[in-house]
Amino acid sequence: MASKNNIGEMTTAEVAEALGNGVDVVVLPVGAMEQHGPHGLIGTDSFLAQVVAEKVAVKLGALLAPLMPYGLSSSHMNFKGTMSLSPEAFTLFSRDVLTSLIHHGFRKIVIVNGNEPNYYPLIMVARSLREETGVLITLSNWYSALQECWKDLPGVKGTEKAEWKWPYFMAHGGLLETAGSMAYKQGLVRLDLAATYGSERREAFSNPVVSLPSRIDEVTQKGSYGDPRGATPELGRIWTDLAAERIVDKLRAAWDTAAKKP
Ligand SMILES: [Zn+2]
Repeated sequence: MASKNNIGEMTTAEVAEALGNGVDVVVLPVGAMEQHGPHGLIGTDSFLAQVVAEKVAVKLGALLAPLMPYGLSSSHMNFKGTMSLSPEAFTLFSRDVLTSLIHHGFRKIVIVNGNEPNYYPLIMVARSLREETGVLITLSNWYSALQECWKDLPGVKGTEKAEWKWPYFMAHGGLLETAGSMAYKQGLVRLDLAATYGSERREAFSNPVVSLPSRIDEVTQKGSYGDPRGATPELGRIWTDLAAERIVDKLRAAWDTAAKKP
């Protein structure tokens, strides 16, 4: 797409023109600044949310709101470089950004999230703003978008990786995040330092029966878990495309259903 769609790179007249032409959908990437193990990049959750959000916006012919680069990362504060917002600040910040977009006339807002703890305050804000304004605010975690199809990814299908259990496949600093970082931040990942940890401790802290909020260093000493070995830039490009495709399909279904009475 040659024409501009990132609000941060547009003039106010251009945004007004897009809205006037019926573009009422905007995509908002939300990430985090937190360590990703010895090999991974601190901005991983932010730039991968941005990459997937850009692809979603292009597919929808939507505008793209600038990235919210900070999120809820308090569990990573024992690692240098992590920066976290409090839940209160994050909730107010995201609510104000969404309220601004609604003020200008966007009727559908698509949040693409790259950091799991962000999900909980975001879904509460999305619900209350929908109830107040009627605007359809959806929330998609890119990693959840792959939950049903990751076993078919090249490099996974037909290998022992296909036997991995979700969410070990995704994991923090695991195969997908590492591959995505290699695709979109070339030369920066330190795969030579990659550490591989099991997810047993995480499963004990977080499962369908019990949730015990814990620090990442209670889960793994090195700050990452999962298995980043075998990550390639090609896999990173493929899964980001697939995640965007899945999000758009499910979005359309949600919008269509919301438009009809039950
Ligand atoms: Zn991450």
